[in-house]
Amino acid sequence: MKLNQKTNIGAAVQEKPLAVCGLILCAGFGARAGFSYNKLLHYVGTKTVLELTLDKFMESCCTSIVITASPNDIDAVRKMVSVYANVLVVSGGDTRTKSVRNGLQAMQKSDIVVIHDGARPFICSALINQAVQSAITFGSGILAVPAIDTIKEVHGDTVVRTLPRAGLYHIQTPQAFRYNQIVDAYARIADDCGDDSEIYEKAGYSPKIVLGDYANRKLTTPNDFLLHSASSKIGTGFDVHRLVENRPLILGGVHIPFEKGLLGHSDADVLTHAVMDALLSAAGLPDIGVLFPNDDPAFHNAVSLKLLQTVLQKITCLGFSIGNISAVVLAEKPKLSPYIEKICINLARALGISVQQINVSATTTEGLGTVGEGKGIAASAMCIVTY
Ligand code: MG
Repeated sequence: MKLNQKTNIGAAVQEKPLAVCGLILCAGFGARAGFSYNKLLHYVGTKTVLELTLDKFMESCCTSIVITASPNDIDAVRKMVSVYANVLVVSGGDTRTKSVRNGLQAMQKSDIVVIHDGARPFICSALINQAVQSAITFGSGILAVPAIDTIKEVHGDTVVRTLPRAGLYHIQTPQAFRYNQIVDAYARIADDCGDDSEIYEKAGYSPKIVLGDYANRKLTTPNDFLLHSASSKIGTGFDVHRLVENRPLILGGVHIPFEKGLLGHSDADVLTHAVMDALLSAAGLPDIGVLFPNDDPAFHNAVSLKLLQTVLQKITCLGFSIGNISAVVLAEKPKLSPYIEKICINLARALGISVQQINVSATTTEGLGTVGEGKGIAASAMCIVTY
């Protein structure tokens, strides 16, 4: 949505698009979140907090975006947002107020500025647009929600005053202002303030409230991140192949010296097959029998690790990322422990994940059943994917 304003130029009335600049603050560290890095660079599902926030601004009426980042993070932030159009990343300051000041100085002259804490990724574009509309009409639009809890003034551990709840609001961001007014306010007020509406108020303007949303919470503590961690799904896969002579034995892409190998249309990598089916199952997709039919000449002697990468592409396209994979190979012979590490490395590389996200174990079946009689090798895998 792009907003227009009508301007009188002589007798003619022309419509020109409003220049609305979003200013997203990402220069803090967020020590209370408990990470060893900027909390806005923390992944919630497949995107960082900053990207989730930026997505909402890209859907809004903003025509350009300025992000303030600390010198430590500025390269990482620039790289992260390089796929977005009309986004400028500039150095923030060591306080929120200084970061806003830097952002205002770096941006091109605009009609409206919308200032937002990057740690509020649950904002929606409609509320950003309402704040902007309020700024067009009244000079400012400050998101706020009525206080739910009773608020008391406490000295030490003693309550000295109970504030009447009526009329008390929790102030959120975004906060939208006419560009000239917020630049004027920051030029005249040198104090460090908790938010921009305070500076605006101290400069003599009257901030106008826009009803916000309780869901527009600021991610601050470790618990906030737990509450808003990505949804996850579990998947399971199982496969078995017959052991025959004159075939290679390949497990997890590792060629294992043995007198027999597994029979199959592809390379019969039974472990990789189980892993693929686990991932597909978690993503709600058809299994490998449907994706790679064993009567399709295209998959004759196919390298299963390559097929695994096709599976990865399919689940990634749907927004899934791999949490972890746990698999077990059931084989009476040969002894697999010398190959487990290499198998895990192969699978991790094929999937573009850390080797710590994969665990493979091996067991015999104590001579029982088909596997125990050495007629075949089976594999079972489970995985968790997040989205
Ligand atoms: Mg198979």
